[in-house]
Order: sequence, then structure tokens, then C-alpha cells
Amino acid sequence: MSKVLILPGDGIGQEIVAQALKVIDHLNENENLGMELVHGLVGGTAYDETGSPLPQATLDAARECDSILLGAVGGYQWEALERDLRPERGLLGLRAEMDLFSNLRPAILYPQLASASTLKEEIVSGLDLMIVRELVSGIYFGQPRGIEIRNGERFGFNSATYSESEIRRIGHSAFKIAQKRDKRVCSVDKANVLEVCELWREVMIEVAKDYPDVELSHMYVDNAAMQLVKAPKQFDVMVTSNLFGDVLSDCAAMLTGSIGMLPSASLNKDGFGMYEPIHGSAPDIAGQDLANPLATILSVSMMLRYSLNQVALADKIDNAVNTVLDQGYRTQDIASDGGSVVGTNQMGDLARVSFFFNPCGPLGGQNIFLFREGGASREGAKNYRIFPSDGPLKEKKKGNANFFTIKRFLHWGNTGLGFFMKRGPNGKVSNPYEFPPVGSQGGEYYGKVMAVV
Ligand code: NAD
Repeated sequence: MSKVLILPGDGIGQEIVAQALKVIDHLNENENLGMELVHGLVGGTAYDETGSPLPQATLDAARECDSILLGAVGGYQWEALERDLRPERGLLGLRAEMDLFSNLRPAILYPQLASASTLKEEIVSGLDLMIVRELVSGIYFGQPRGIEIRNGERFGFNSATYSESEIRRIGHSAFKIAQKRDKRVCSVDKANVLEVCELWREVMIEVAKDYPDVELSHMYVDNAAMQLVKAPKQFDVMVTSNLFGDVLSDCAAMLTGSIGMLPSASLNKDGFGMYEPIHGSAPDIAGQDLANPLATILSVSMMLRYSLNQVALADKIDNAVNTVLDQGYRTQDIASDGGSVVGTNQMGDLARVSFFFNPCGPLGGQNIFLFREGGASREGAKNYRIFPSDGPLKEKKKGNANFFTIKRFLHWGNTGLGFFMKRGPNGKVSNPYEFPPVGSQGGEYYGKVMAVV
């Protein structure tokens, strides 16, 4: 049994987290996930209700939970607030309070979306890279820092600092992740110029001794930036400092061309994690059913993989997302290849529906129309007749051999999408459009319903 704190936050955060909850509900109901959900406030909405972007109740709840699922924070209406009261403080406060030092930023390019990238398809298609960024130290936090007058002019300074233990722990984090992937770590530094990076490199080499199954390489950050756009598929796990990671992870994200597809995780040493899409609260499209919820749904997958040790269920989520993309469904941000454009809600419904189909199975591409009989509403209908989408629609007439009785039909919202089950006489369907049984369902038949007419 795991306990997860749900923090939708602001803007599109509310809409996209609602879609991720559909997936969690599905896994709780059908896959014994056993995830208990606790709901809380963060960001601007938390400020409006409590006067703080990170209320004490949210912090207390975070400490009681195994993980956090966060939507996004921020919005125009809170921009004039004092710095400490701004929505982003809620996020930074959670990172600091929970000591989330290890930031995992995958850059995955789904082959179905390769045309969305600005790079040539052959360079990026199938990209699957993980950037592990140190998140709570380095030049962003080092002391001394400031702006002062020196020799009669303004002088700005920051300190790039890392202790051995800070490097060691992010190193272990990266190597452990590599063990679950392709077992290659590339440590990115600037050891030819900076002493702090010399130490970084030395400690990485020491840490690597604990992971003989993982190959360690080193790269200077300028070269790493170049290689990311030249041949990004050469990398498996990249580990780097706070500053370099900030820049490289945004660059890697944009290789995929779709900000709405990328999840992220921030972990502490106990495996507690905060999982969130990499994008912000997108106030320009909030409340319009336009946001892509897939990065948030994939954040749930990361949570199951990296904090809750439910790798098989994480794989199922990844497969469901792949299935939806295979079917050609796109939210507007990823619709450059001309697929069927759907809204936020419908994308969430589709992701949920997709769990019922084995993407590798025989029904992977089968599209079906349902014809309703004996009732005006979907629920009231006595029967449904099924036709493959490529079958002639005139076969609709009653008594046709292509006639199935639907035992159960579920649908979501007004999407017109659902799934059906059928047990024919002797468990067999005898008609030209045979639907092979799916594994454990023993004589029940599944298909993708494209329209109910
Ligand atoms: P943003 O990521 O919110 O939006 C950038 C662009 O991408 C916008 O055009 C937006 O419509 C689009 N976009 C973002 N997510 C999308 C999605 N899921 N589906 C479709 N399109 C999507 O960045 P921004 O506009 O610079 O910032 C807006 C607010 O979000 C600011 O208040 C900022 O501080 C905050 N922010 C929060 C986080 C976070 O919560 N982790 C991260 C970045 C920015």
C-alpha cells in the first residue's frame, strides 16, 4: 500500500492531474495498485486559500506520504506578490524541505512524434536519454554570493561549490538509474577549467567502482551540448551539476519538440520523490481543454518505477501512452503530423481505455463501429452490433451474420469511445471478422470502438 500526495497546483495543473487520476483509478480498480491518495494545496491556489504557497498542512502531508504527484504552479495573477509568497516558492520549498537533490529529466522521443522535433528524424527518432541533475547545491546555492561595489564599480559574484558527499550521492543516484537502463553513465563537467569539476570527476570515478556493471565516461559540458544536438542517441544516463543540468536538460527536452510529453522526478536519498511534468502552468491555455496530459500521466509511470517499485505497472502506463499515439490521437501541441486532435479530457479517457488493449497483440490496429439497438441511450441499449471500420456500413441490417451481443459496454464521458466484451456461442465468433481472444479473458473479445452510431 502506498500513499501519494496529489498537488494539482495552478493553471492547467488541475486539468492534467485529473487525467492522471483516471489512470491511477484504473490501476487501483483493475491492477491492485493499492495507492491511497491524499489531496493538498500548493502554489497560487494555496496562497489564495491559506495565505501561503506552501501551507504547513501540505508539508505535513508530504512527510506522511511515499511520493508527490504535482501538476504545475504559477500564473499571471500572482506575479506581483512578494517573492516569498509567489507560487514558485511552494515548489522550491518542497524541494528544499524534502531534500530532493536528484532531478531526473528523461528526454524521450516517441517515434510517432518524430516529425515534431526540429532535428532530422533519423537523428532523434527513438531517443531515450535520462539527465540526472544535482538540484540543491552548486552555483545556485553556493556562498558567498551577491552584488557589491568594488573599486568604484558594481561587482557580481557567485560560488560554484560542491562537497564530496554532495557529488557522491548524485553519483550513486545516476549509477542506480543506469543499472535499470542501458548501464552507461556519462558524467558532464568542465574539469579542464574548474577545480570544483576536478573534484566532481574524481568522486565520480570513485563511485563507479561500486557499479562494475555500469560503464562510466566523461565529457566537457561544451562538447556535451554539441553532442546533444549532433548525435543525442549516443547517451543513456547523463549526470551533471545543477547549472549544467539546468541548461542541458532544457536543450534535451526540446529535442523531442513537445513540452507536453515529458515527465520528471526529484528524489531524496530515501527514494521519496516528487513527480511532475517538466512544463509550467500554461496560463495561456488553462481551462480550455487544450493541455496535453501525457507528461503528467508519464510522471505517474516514473513514480511507480523509481519510488514505488512497481515496474510492471509503470511499463503498462508507458504502453498505454504508446497505444494512444499509435492510434493517431494528438493534443494540439503535438498535432503537427495531422493526427486526430483531441482535448485534455478525451486524451485522459483514451489513455485509460488503452489499458484494455495489448498494443503488441492481434487487436492492435482493429477499429470498430458500434451500432446501438433497442434503446436510445448507450446505457439503455439492449444490443450493440459491431462492424470493423473497414467493413461496409450497409451490413448494419438486422439478422446479418456479423452480429454480436454485447455483454458489457463501458464508455467514458462523451468521447464515443469505449470497449466491449463478447462471449459467442461455444466461446467462438463465427463471422468473417474474427477477433482473437486476448490472453486471460478466456473467450471474451475485445476491440477498439471508434464510434457509436
Ligand atoms: P509553460 O511551460 O507553462 O508554457 C510554455 C508554453 O508551452 C505555453 O505556450 C504553453 O501553452 C505550452 N504548454 C505548456 N504545457 C503544455 C501542455 N501540457 N500542453 C500543451 N501546451 C503546453 O511556461 P511559461 O509560460 O514560461 O510559464 C507559465 C507559468 O508556469 C509561470 O508562472 C511559470 O513560473 C510557471 N512554471 C511552473 C513550472 C512548474 O510548476 N514546475 C515550470 C515552469 C514554469
